[in-house]
This record gives sequence, C-alpha cells and structure tokens, in this order.
Amino acid sequence: MTDTIVIVGAGHAGGRAAQALRQAGFAGRVVLIGEEKYPPYERPPLSKELIVTDAGLEKARLHDPAYYEQHKIELMLGAQAEAIDRAGKAVILAGGARVPYDRLMLTTGARVRKLPIPGADLPGIFYLRDFDDTQAIRARLREGVRAVVIGGGFIGLETAASARKRGAAVTVLEAADRLMGRAVAPEIGAWFAELHKRHGVDLRLGVRIKAIEGDGKVERVALDGAEPIPADLVVIGIGIVPNVELAALAGLAVENGIVVDEFGRTSDPAIFAAGDCALQPNAFTGRRLRLESYQNAQDQAMAVARNMVGEPKAYEDSLWVWSDQHDVNLQMTGVPLAYDKLVWRGDPASGAFMVFYLQNGRIVAVNTVNLGREMKPAQRLMQSRKVFDPAQLADPTLRLLKLGKE
Ligand SMILES: Cc1cc2nc3c(=O)[nH]c(=O)nc-3n(C[C@H](O)[C@H](O)[C@H](O)COP(=O)(O)OP(=O)(O)OC[C@H]3O[C@@H](n4cnc5c(N)ncnc54)[C@H](O)[C@@H]3O)c2cc1C
Repeated sequence: MTDTIVIVGAGHAGGRAAQALRQAGFAGRVVLIGEEKYPPYERPPLSKELIVTDAGLEKARLHDPAYYEQHKIELMLGAQAEAIDRAGKAVILAGGARVPYDRLMLTTGARVRKLPIPGADLPGIFYLRDFDDTQAIRARLREGVRAVVIGGGFIGLETAASARKRGAAVTVLEAADRLMGRAVAPEIGAWFAELHKRHGVDLRLGVRIKAIEGDGKVERVALDGAEPIPADLVVIGIGIVPNVELAALAGLAVENGIVVDEFGRTSDPAIFAAGDCALQPNAFTGRRLRLESYQNAQDQAMAVARNMVGEPKAYEDSLWVWSDQHDVNLQMTGVPLAYDKLVWRGDPASGAFMVFYLQNGRIVAVNTVNLGREMKPAQRLMQSRKVFDPAQLADPTLRLLKLGKE
C-alpha cells in the first residue's frame, strides 16, 4: 500500500507543503485538494501589482503548471473538502467522493470577515481575498471612478494606494481613530495617514458606517453624523476569519485557529495544520499565535511537512510581515502589543526610518519604513532578548550589527 499524504487547501501554505514533502524525499502519494480553480498562488500581489497593472495570475503562481505533474503532486482543484472521517482516515469531498489518507495536513487558510450592515450585498461591493476578487475590482478601477474603501488595515490601505495608481478617487473609512491599529504604534499609523493624504486619499477616521445605499447597485455609503459618501464601488477590508470548520466538525481542538503544537500536530496525531488557519505556540512571545502572513504560511507549512515525513523539529516563526502602500515599503517584526518605549532611528520626514518597540529595554517589535535592509539585523537584536540602551538604538551612526555584538 502506498503511503498517502493529503493536503486540504491549495493556497500558499498547501502549495509549499506539497513542495517540501517532495524535497524531503517523500515518495508516497501527495494529494493537494483546493476549492479554488487555480493552482496555488501568492496573495500579496492581489492588492498590489495585480490591481495596478494588467498582469495575470502567472505573476503570482507558486509553481509552473507543469511542476505538479513533474513532481507527482495530484492536484484536485475546484474540490471542496466537506468532512474528515478520522476513524476511516479519509477526506470527504462535496459530492461524496472519499480521498483516503495516512496523514493529513490542513492548510485551509482564512476567508474575509463580512460587514453586517444594511445594503452590504448590493452589486458594486467587493472583498479581496482571491484572484477573482482582484480581477473584479481592477476591472472597475478607472480614472475618475469613485472608490470607497472600508477598513484602514493593510488590505484596505494597499487597495486604496493601488486604486489611486489607477486614477480612481479614493475615500478610506476607518472606524478607529488610527490606521493599522492592530499592527503598528499610533505614531506610525499617523505617519501613514499623512502619506495617504499626500497621495490624494480622502481619509476619514473614527467614522461609523450606517449602511451602503443605492438603487440596485452601490451609490453611496451612509455614515452616522456625517454626509453620505458617493461611491461607484466599495471595497471592504475588515479582517479575516480562519477556516476552522472542517477541523471543528472532525472533533479536532479548535479555538481562534486549529490548535497545533510546536511541530504542527493537531489533537489527532495523523493530522497536521499550518498557515493562516493554525494556532501555534510561539517561543519568542510565550503565547499561542495565529499568524496571517506570507512568510509564516510558507515557512510553517514547509517545516510541518518535513515533520510529517522526518525527524520532528519545533517550528519558530520569524514574525515578519510587510506591506507596500504608494511608494513606501513597511516591514514589521515582533508583536507590538505591550511596549513602554518607542525609539525612532532616522528622520521620519526623510521617508526612510525605523522604530523599535521596547519593553523594559528589550526589543519586542521593530518597524522599518523604506529601510528593509535594516530588518534582518534588527530581528537579530530582537531575538537576542538583550537589554538595549535606547540612545544607542536611536543613533544611526552606530551599526545595528555592531550593537548586537556588544
Ligand atoms: C490581498 C492580500 C494581500 C496580502 N499581502 C500580504 C503582504 O503584503 N505580506 C504578508 O506577509 N502577507 C500578506 N497577505 C497574507 C498572506 O497572503 C496569507 O497569510 C497567506 O496567503 C496564507 O496562506 P494560507 O495558505 O495559509 O491560506 P490561504 O492563502 O487562505 O489559502 C487557503 C486555501 O484553502 C482553500 N480551502 C479552504 N477550505 C477548503 C476546503 N474545505 N476544501 C478545499 N479547499 C479549501 C481556500 O480556498 C484557499 O485557496 C495578503 C493576503 C491577501 C488576501
């Protein structure tokens, strides 16, 4: 009997997991099941160059289409896994087909959080998670079109910047009083607010949205206590929800993500999980984290795949994410939830600078703004867990690499 590994979810994590199994020399069957009709692709370009330019999906594909056949990875696309028969070790697809497994990996990712307000299903309202969403949004973004973006997080702000590049008139509506509130300090959010304004984005913070209105299609967004905003299209980016239902239905431990240990194992020893859907212990923070990032989807999935076929090794994420907005590249590492000091290095007015988030002198997070080359050395400082002198961190004449060696 051939040893079979089935992967459910043919996104970034699923595609990389299949690749890692073959790279690790696994010679059994690899079956990759995905409900989208496309082979695995990267999502970051969906809100960036794939909106701005007319580039197609080939810009974002993980692998060449021939790769899967060459590596005997059985792709089942347009196939939704509906249940897992753990006793019989099979995945059950919509329609009833059974796909037997010896070990199973869940890389089901996440879906968009929906905005529950009146009018939220009018034509002209879009969410952005997959390639079809990008195509639909891009097709409507032309010079002079009025686009309203709901949500001042990464996806909303990247979409706003891309829409400006296509010539649309863009309004961003954010309920909080700052941008990217879950990810960066208010000061960094404020710097980005100025950036968006400079690029012609009409930014409204602290707004309450009452409804989306229109006669058969989107015409305006109604606000509490303010004039309605005319709109030809609305893009909503208010976060994501992990796809945990399949795991929960199968009786696996599930919280805000499929619960896995440091090796990626779920509460069933034959089932593993990775990517946006997985909630894993993180040694650096001492907490369990469900990360929503490209790098985690890739590294965690590959590490867990290796663990499925070889000597298990605990996975530790690098806690690194980035976002591109207008002409600015923002990179972030660490978790800036609790910090008592923000240390600036470089002049924010110059457009290239970084900030350290310190807690009792230890670095808990770092942001670089158009200064990506400093990210790796900064990460090393953070991971050293040493106590640093804020004045030294702030001094751009002192090299970060050198500080780490002291
Ligand atoms: C527009 C956009 C821009 C982004 N930009 C950045 C960025 O700049 N930097 C960064 O670090 N991260 C970024 N991300 C986040 C990053 O892309 C995600 O963290 C990553 O895609 C997660 O990969 P995943 O494979 O875990 O999940 P997903 O990419 O969500 O893939 C999961 C796949 O599983 C499929 N699936 C789910 N359930 C089933 C089922 N029952 N049966 C079959 N198939 C199923 C889904 O259809 C999907 O194709 C961005 C995300 C988006 C949407």
